[in-house]
Amino acid sequence: MAFKKKPQHIVVAGMGQGGMVAAIYLGKAGFDVDIYEQAKEGEVSHPWTDDTPVAVFERCGIPMPPKEAYVQKSNWYWVSPGKPRRLKFPGTAPGVEISIDRRMLSAHFASLAKDAGCKIHYETPVKKLMTSGDKIVGVELENGKKVSADLVIDALGINSVLRPQAPAKWGIPAHEADDDLMLGYRAFYKMNPNYVPPEYPDYRACMYLKHMGGAGLSWCNVSPNNTMDMLIGRLYGMTEADMEVMKKDLFERHADQLTDEVVIPGRFIKIGTRYTLSKFVADGYALVGDSAFMSIPLTGCGIESSMDAGVYLAETVIANKGHEMNAKSLWPYQVKFFRKKGALFALIDVLKRWVLNLDGDLVDWVFYKVASPKIVESISGMMFRGMSPIIGVFNILTALPFSLAQLFSKPSILKEIGGVLKAGIHAVLVAFKVPTKYNEQKINEWAAEYEAAIPHKK
Ligand SMILES: Cc1cc2nc3c(=O)[nH]c(=O)nc-3n(C[C@H](O)[C@H](O)[C@H](O)COP(=O)(O)OP(=O)(O)OC[C@H]3O[C@@H](n4cnc5c(N)ncnc54)[C@H](O)[C@@H]3O)c2cc1C
Repeated sequence: MAFKKKPQHIVVAGMGQGGMVAAIYLGKAGFDVDIYEQAKEGEVSHPWTDDTPVAVFERCGIPMPPKEAYVQKSNWYWVSPGKPRRLKFPGTAPGVEISIDRRMLSAHFASLAKDAGCKIHYETPVKKLMTSGDKIVGVELENGKKVSADLVIDALGINSVLRPQAPAKWGIPAHEADDDLMLGYRAFYKMNPNYVPPEYPDYRACMYLKHMGGAGLSWCNVSPNNTMDMLIGRLYGMTEADMEVMKKDLFERHADQLTDEVVIPGRFIKIGTRYTLSKFVADGYALVGDSAFMSIPLTGCGIESSMDAGVYLAETVIANKGHEMNAKSLWPYQVKFFRKKGALFALIDVLKRWVLNLDGDLVDWVFYKVASPKIVESISGMMFRGMSPIIGVFNILTALPFSLAQLFSKPSILKEIGGVLKAGIHAVLVAFKVPTKYNEQKINEWAAEYEAAIPHKK
């Protein structure tokens, strides 16, 4: 990009994926990009693998990470809260989704960013936003150094230290509400040497919906390197004692797979499971990824959406052609995110709040009476286990009337489903109506309507 004087300076705070994708694009376009990351080189991101679709790399124009960084994602059992009924959840065809080593993914982004001319400063935490009036003009580092910038990209993740410091004028929510929080506890154990895990892409993963009846999800999986991956997640948080009870339960259920030898010690960690922030741009400042709550509200998956958002942000900055980067010129980035992703996430958030707060007995009833294994397993069979479509469709058609009859036998449930779908569709429509033109008053009115569309706990 041809700048009139010297290139605009961009600070990327944190090596979150969205920030790295934006950095790669902006570096290539000729911007002067500095990336500040608190972790050591080689230790950026979680020491485990997470799942993500492959298509996002091609869509974002980012080369695939090296082959040793990922394996085929395994398929999941979903388990009902009360009685241990396992349903084989439909997975994806081979090559569609991968489990990726998070640290290798970060190293891959770092190498691409360096090739694009970006400078990466490891072990250099950022501390403060520098402001001039309401405009963000740079960051102060933990080491006391002040770095001015035309734009600060906040890719610091869910615990961003910068977000709460954004001047009030921008209305960027500083903290999530109590009922937005999903607290997770994740630990890895050595697998029982006598246990023979299934081959990929068979069912190596087990998701407990409303585990032990609580508002949350837990899992116990055989990870790609054959360690046992345990996660206990709860909306509204949990105490250490609650976690111990659930951990004990998972140890009992997976006694044939688990040993108590710790491979990665357990840690409590916040998971981004709320709808996207109503505002994530300001004069000289843009948030991307978990710092703006861009992950899928039910599952917390955010690698894909933050990479996509990184592209939207970079495209917006490049299209600004070297003019001042203010809330107005950055606004198309927010609009694009809401149109492509945020609106759908609002619907998922409404459904998530409903499902995770349902009575456990009711969810059991759905698992036992409505969700016929024949239907669920035929869908997954046709999708990725080579089941003949004739057999799959026949199975579904024969089981469907029974499931529908069960559903219609409880009109109260139908009424409730109707109510929650109405609330969800309302939330999508409001989110989708994000003003396309920058007008502060209209944007503030929209943000208030969007926040009100999500049914928070009273
Ligand atoms: C237990 C768990 C399981 C998950 N599983 C999945 C999954 O299977 N699939 C999926 O898509 N997503 C998953 N996610 C979510 C996913 O991790 C995030 O949505 C995704 O990484 C986007 O986050 P981010 O890039 O914005 O931030 P992060 O990945 O959190 O990156 C933030 C970066 O900023 C750095 N940083 C923080 N503070 C400072 C500071 N003051 N100064 C400098 N640097 C700083 C951090 O060290 C880190 O490198 C999971 C999350 C958790 C917690």
